[in-house]
Amino acid sequence: QLFTQGRMDALTNIPNRLRLQEDLEKLHARLERHGHAYGVALMDVDHFKKYNDTCGHLAGDEALKLIANTLARTCRATDWVYRYGGEEFVAIFPDTTAETVCIAAERMRAAIERLREPHPGLGPANVLTVSIGVSWMGHGGQTSIDDVLNNADLGLYEAKNNGRNLVRVFPSHEEN
Ligand code: GH3
Ligand code: MG
Ligand code: MG
Repeated sequence: QLFTQGRMDALTNIPNRLRLQEDLEKLHARLERHGHAYGVALMDVDHFKKYNDTCGHLAGDEALKLIANTLARTCRATDWVYRYGGEEFVAIFPDTTAETVCIAAERMRAAIERLREPHPGLGPANVLTVSIGVSWMGHGGQTSIDDVLNNADLGLYEAKNNGRNLVRVFPSHEEN
């Protein structure tokens, strides 16, 4: 029971970062041994500080629960969503192409926007939104788990810089 509890996020009731690390290690081992590709999406709530400042921290907590629930419901049975920390979430997509990961991430982005949860100003559409960075690990090349997360972070940075409420893959196709 303690083992399971230690791998769940207490606020949102989805798996936490410790569980993510363990699952990523397994996925990465499968990639190295059998060539099974996988993808990662790193999601960050847009202008969430402003949301907290205006609506209050408790409302912020409720918003995080709603977002976690929505993301978990939106992914396929084979995919997993984790709370990475703060207002950041990670989804992992085993055995998939880069294109499929982007489609899945776009579905998640749209699902949060469709909640139409009012955001007091600053939000790109005046509703709660998330920006998403996507990366994909295929066989070949010198890669590590840190690389896949760092690439997703660079994609996220692009999504934020280009206006938020967006999905961006890194490396982008032009750079591949
Ligand atoms: P950006 O669009 O660039 O991501 O802007 P942001 O305001 O979301 O980014 P920033 O990192 O400045 O703020 C993150 C906020 O998330 C600040 C912090 O108080 C809030 N936050 C993190 N964890 C929790 C939590 O568990 N509950 C609540 N209510 N707020 C949280
Ligand atoms: Mg953040
Ligand atoms: Mg944020």
